[in-house]
Parts: sequence; structure tokens; C-alpha cells
Amino acid sequence: MSSTATPTIDATAGIRPWREAVAAFAIVLGVSALGLGVTYYFSRQAQIDAVRNELAQLARTVAVQIDGDAHRRVARPDMEGTPGHLAALAPIVRFHKATHDVIYVYTYTFDDGVVRFGLDSAFAYKVPGDTEPHDPPGKAYDGNDRDVRRALETQSLVVNDEITHEAVRSYLSAYAPFYDSHGTFVGVVGLDMWVRDLDERLARLERLASFGLAGLVLIALTVATGVHRLRSHAAAAVARDHRAVIELAAARDAAEQSSRAKSEFLAVMSHELRTPLNAIIGYGEMTAEELRGRGDDALAIDVERMLAASRHLTAIIGDILDYSKLEAGRLRLATARVDLATLASDLADLMRPACTAKGVTLVLDVAPGLPPVTGDPVRLRQVLLNLVGNAVKFTDRGTVTVRLRRAGPAGGFVCSVHDTGAGIPRDKRSRLFQPFSQVDASATRAAGGTGLGLAISRRLVETMHGRLTFRSREGRGSTFRVSVPPAA
Ligand code: ADP
Repeated sequence: MSSTATPTIDATAGIRPWREAVAAFAIVLGVSALGLGVTYYFSRQAQIDAVRNELAQLARTVAVQIDGDAHRRVARPDMEGTPGHLAALAPIVRFHKATHDVIYVYTYTFDDGVVRFGLDSAFAYKVPGDTEPHDPPGKAYDGNDRDVRRALETQSLVVNDEITHEAVRSYLSAYAPFYDSHGTFVGVVGLDMWVRDLDERLARLERLASFGLAGLVLIALTVATGVHRLRSHAAAAVARDHRAVIELAAARDAAEQSSRAKSEFLAVMSHELRTPLNAIIGYGEMTAEELRGRGDDALAIDVERMLAASRHLTAIIGDILDYSKLEAGRLRLATARVDLATLASDLADLMRPACTAKGVTLVLDVAPGLPPVTGDPVRLRQVLLNLVGNAVKFTDRGTVTVRLRRAGPAGGFVCSVHDTGAGIPRDKRSRLFQPFSQVDASATRAAGGTGLGLAISRRLVETMHGRLTFRSREGRGSTFRVSVPPAA
């Protein structure tokens, strides 16, 4: 007895709502934060670059105003305050006074690798609030702005990349080279510019970026919640499907088992019933003969009626046994050479008396030279007898035609049984091949039958890998068609 294995499938189909929600959160936030970060970086850089450009222009402007020759002459501390010093200082002081937000203007020179202060506008002018002492000429530079040394070494314009933040203020510095009257490099002029506007703009940008980031976190959370909800629903649906599949499989197993048990019961019962029935028929025949011999015809007729009923019962039990065997898949087909033309003519001989009694013409149309086929002769005969028997049974006048043809060059055959009988009503056709189904119970009762013949015939033909089909027109007749392929 075979039992169907319960299907094994992943109950969640790999759906992990929490994990997927966290992944969605990370992806949405990661990608959008990256975009926001890049935008923030470039906006900030653009703001700083604008100020750096402005500063570079200012440094170049002041550099061309410095008299390099005069500068060389006031390089010592003791020169401070002299007319020469004041004259050299004048252009940078003028410049300083004319600008806005410039804190210091000063010069540096390079002396054997040592950076020294030169002129400092703070000697003559300080921005309001600045109390820092100025740096005297010749003093060594002790600051840590590496751009100073770079500008002196490369003798070129250098502007700070980043803002220097101090407690009092934030500033950017730029250094531009200046020259003497021979075009010889003398030193660099430095400008420190207070960047309070820039600071404010950058702070605004930072606040904007923070709000943006908070918004992105909210969006990512919403997406993650949505993903979690959707995937939880999906996981629940998959789990429901999984349960349904398991329940269906269990129900199918139970149904198959009960169907097998029923078929086995019927097979055993049918077999057990046939044995005593055969005894009844045997003794009935002997008794009927004996009674006829004694001249007791009235009693003999009664016994013969009992015999007819017993034979009918045997036939019914035979049908039930066949059907249950087919249902249980236990019917084995024999293999032999079958001469279909002979089989058909035997059937016609068998049915002719019934046809003659009813006034129905039986026509046998067998293709000439029909080759023998390989199959089970008893079962083929059973199928064709059932079809021809039905055709005769349900036809009161006209013709029953049995037509036999070869299926194709490879072998096999097609047999159609056509009658001009009552036909089968459209609404009854779907039940025709179901066991114990009779289209018109009263007509069948009159004609005899169990309602098993077509169910058995169709299953037998299918066991032979063939097909049993029919067409019918109510009041005009029916055609049943059996096609069986060549045996494999
Ligand atoms: P039964 O033993 O009752 O003939 P079948 O399965 O052979 O059982 O047929 C089922 C029913 O189909 C019949 O009772 C009859 O009502 C209908 N039927 C079968 N063949 C024909 C036919 N050629 N013409 C009309 N009705 C038919």
C-alpha cells in the first residue's frame, strides 16, 4: 500500500520581515545620506572657495602696492618708526583701512630658512577691539601656519584651504609674493580675513543638512515599517498556504486510503458472493431440468425465473468486482493476438436475436484486411459488448452500426458504435461515465443494467492507453467511439 509523502516546503519561503525591514532602513538611509553628504560637502566647498578666491584677489592687489626696494631697507627692528619704515608701511595700512573684515596685513621674508616678520599694518592701524601687539621687523615667525613657509618656498600665491578657528574669531589667510624694482622676489604679504559671514552661511548649511538627515531617518523608518508590514502579511499568507497544503495532502491521503479500503472490501465481498451464487445457479439448473423431466412445468418456470435473477446478480457482482479492481489499480490485462474482425462478427451473432426481436437492423462495417492487434481479448470483447449491448438496448427502431477501422499506419484500432435510438439528454451527459449512473432509471429498469458498464469500459480503455468518447443527439441517436493505440 503506497502512501503519499507529506510535502516539505519552507513555511516562511525565506521571508524574514524584521531582517528585511532593517535592510530597507539601512539601504534607504545609507543611499540618501550619501547623497545628502555629497551635496553638503560640495556646497560647503563652494562657499569656502568663493571666499578663498576673493582673498586671493585681495592678496594680489596689496602685493603689487608694496615697494620691494623700500621693504629691504627696513628689515631690522631698530628701523621701526623711521620715515623709511613708515613710507614702506603706508600702502599696506591704506589698503587695510580700505578693506572690510581684514584683520591683519603683514609681510614675511625668508632668511636662510628662517621665516621673519617684515611690515605689520597693526603698527599704525588696528581694527576696533584688537589689542594684540604688532610684530616688529626681523622677528622670527613662531606661528604654525604651514602655508606661510610654502608661499615663501614656492614664491607663489597660497590661500588656506580650511578656516582657522580661534576663540575670538575665525579667519582665512592668503599669502602673495611681492618683488623689488628688478623683479626679484622679496617676500610674501599675508592677509588674515575674518570669515564671520562664511561662518554663518556654513552654520546654516550644517543646520539644513542636520534637518535633512533627520528627515531621511524618518523616511527610512517609514519605508522600513512599510516593508515590515508587507512582508509580515506575505509571511502569514505563505504560512497559511503551507498549512492548507499540508491539510490537503492529509485529506487526500485519508481519501485515497478510504477509497482503497472500499475497493478492497468490494473485491473481497464480490468474490465471496460469487461462490455461493455459482452453487445456486448450478443446483437451480439441475432442479429446473429435473422438474421439466417430471413434467412439472409450472414449478420449472419458477425455478428458471430464480435462475435468471441469479445470473443477473452474478453479472452485477462481476461488474462490481471489475470496477473495484480497476479503482484499486489491481486489474491486470492479458496480452494476446486479437483478430478484431472475428471478435466483431461473434458480437454481431450474439446480439442479432435481440435486434431481430426489436426490429432493429444490425450493420457490421469492418475495414477489409484489418490486421490483428495485440491486447486483452476478454476485456476488448467486454468493452465492445457493453457498447453494442447499450446501443441495442436503447434503440427501438432503425439501425445499430458497428464500424471497425485501423487507427493508423503504426497499428491500433478505432471502433465506433452508432445507433438511431433515444440519444442522451445534454444535462445527463456529464454523469454518463460515473459508476451506477443511469440516464433514465425507468427505461434502464425496463431494459436491465447496473449503470456500471460505461464506467468500467472507460477505465478499461484507459488502462489500454486508449480513449472512449461519445456524441449524441437527443431523439436522433448516439455514437460511442473507442480508439486504442498499438500495444507498446
Ligand atoms: P447500464 O448497465 O445501465 O447500461 P451503462 O454504464 O452501460 O450502464 O450505461 C449508463 C447509462 O447510459 C444507461 O443506463 C443509459 O441510460 C445510458 N446509455 C448508455 N448507452 C446509451 C445509448 N447508446 N443510448 C442511450 N442511452 C445510453
